Amino acid sequence: TIEVRNLSKTFGSHAAVSNVSFSINRGKLIGLLGPSGGGKSTLLRMLAGLETPDSGDIFINGQRVNDVAPQNRGIGFVFQNYALFKHMTVFDNIAFGLTIRRSDKTQIKDRVDELLDLTGLRGFQHRYPHQLSGGQRQRVAFARALAPRPELLLLDEPFAAIDAKVRKELRTWLKQLISTLGITSIFVTHDQDEAVEVADEMLIVQQGKLEQQGSPVAIYTEPQTAFVAGFIGSST
Ligand code: ATP
Ligand code: MG
Repeated sequence: TIEVRNLSKTFGSHAAVSNVSFSINRGKLIGLLGPSGGGKSTLLRMLAGLETPDSGDIFINGQRVNDVAPQNRGIGFVFQNYALFKHMTVFDNIAFGLTIRRSDKTQIKDRVDELLDLTGLRGFQHRYPHQLSGGQRQRVAFARALAPRPELLLLDEPFAAIDAKVRKELRTWLKQLISTLGITSIFVTHDQDEAVEVADEMLIVQQGKLEQQGSPVAIYTEPQTAFVAGFIGSST
């Protein structure tokens, strides 16, 4: 369970995230949507520990993690701009988060093998990122994020740079992966169809404020603010 209470972050005089509160049950896949500049990435970066909130609290499974280092929060992330390590093989990229935790070598190899299977990348472990397609690279990024067995997986437009056909395949794959693992995930996308297809629940943010949280059906049939009513169905 993830709980966020009154989270705020201001850059200069601009409120990027403004008094946001929500809670998410374990195992849910949440679609985070809203216009560009609305605060989605800032919100995820605070959850990940990459940005410090000005105020508010973040709880993961009841533990307040505001002062916990990113690598100890039990969070994995795949960000559009958080690229693979170019000089490392697929194997070493996936093993990265395990190596820094000083797991032993056989354990690391076993875990990487599991992830290669889970992400359909067996046979690719000796390749370098430039020898992979965009979709394969993003699957390596998922494998790397999942290696330390996070409780929460944060995804910031993970498929944004991928063409429409592969993107569709990847989102089906992702939905299945998340439900197999039973982990909680927050997924930022500009594609409303994508959100409706994969999300158990949606969070709509605008100008740093949470406008509505609810199932895709509830968001579409019972928008609670004029903004949500206008946003849904419009292309962004
Ligand atoms: P997009 O859909 O375009 O990715 P977003 O919803 O992720 O947008 P954020 O990146 O969270 O939006 O940005 C929210 C606001 O905070 C924007 O106005 C942005 O310019 C500002 N902002 C974000 N990061 C910084 C920063 N490091 N310094 C100053 N302003 C920032
Ligand atoms: Mg963003």
